[in-house]
Amino acid sequence: MQALYYVGPEQLELRDSEEAPLMPGESRVRIQATGICGSDLHAYHGHDPRRQPPLILGHEAAGEVVEGAMTGKRVTMNPLIVCGHCDYCLEGRQNLCSNRTMVGMTRPGTFAETLTIPDHCLIELPESLPAVAAALTEPAATALHGVNRLERALFRPLSEARVLVIGGGAVGLLVGLILRHKGVRNLRLADTNPLRRRTVERAGLAAFDPHEKVPEPDSFEAVFDCVGAAPTRDMAVAAVKPGGAIMHLGLQDNEGKLDTRAITLKEVAFLGAYTYSPSDLRATVKLLDSQCLGNLDWVEVRKLDQGAEAFADLIAGRTPAAKVILEP
Ligand SMILES: [Zn+2]
Ligand SMILES: [Zn+2]
Repeated sequence: MQALYYVGPEQLELRDSEEAPLMPGESRVRIQATGICGSDLHAYHGHDPRRQPPLILGHEAAGEVVEGAMTGKRVTMNPLIVCGHCDYCLEGRQNLCSNRTMVGMTRPGTFAETLTIPDHCLIELPESLPAVAAALTEPAATALHGVNRLERALFRPLSEARVLVIGGGAVGLLVGLILRHKGVRNLRLADTNPLRRRTVERAGLAAFDPHEKVPEPDSFEAVFDCVGAAPTRDMAVAAVKPGGAIMHLGLQDNEGKLDTRAITLKEVAFLGAYTYSPSDLRATVKLLDSQCLGNLDWVEVRKLDQGAEAFADLIAGRTPAAKVILEP
């Protein structure tokens, strides 16, 4: 099979490789659509010690089972492989599983024609949901998990909140679309890239350049930092209203000095969120299938053999797409 290998910092190579043997309890999936994630870009730069070359990256995908118990079924997959018996797994917080491994990290990823994966990671797709949309399940579930977690920390209903979303990449945009679906009317999205702002506006959300216009201080009940860099954390802490909540979803850097004094004095709930539970993924499949997140025309589809160019374009900010999806 053909697969896109990460072979060293900023080097991707399309290689012919052997299909992995099928282990008991696993299925082989023919990948039909697979998204490039920010964490793949991070690894590509050589910045992720957990992802060592040579490795097939990628963990957001949809396809068809070609070997195993669910042969013939269309599926998306949970890239987190969890143990099912630790305390976290038993209480439904599988994203925190103490023994988890991950597709595209500790085992070969989805930038390939086929992939083997444990059966319990597979989620069957409704006929009406196309593979490209289904490949958004993983990032959309990350957004949904963050929105649901923040919602529980708010004093008043989310639909009444004034909300700031920082970052118009896939997760930021999906957070915005989920918030709109949940009835949030007062919603603004900040991004410094004009191409991305245009994409966000085409998706029907209000976008602005935070370099041009700093968000008003103390004025948002809820802030989502979908970038996770020192300046965006500062922006979030300044913009959040006393008594409000910040959801930190981005992982760009760990620099700067978080204003913990402001967090305390404004009584801010500063929350992190990591990935999703299996039930978040299932809820997201339904959300995507119901089309309540819009027409998803901000996705750009390319062929797997153009994967290296796609990475380069994403890093240079040359594409307006919030998500690039590769088709093997
Ligand atoms: Zn991802
Ligand atoms: Zn576990």
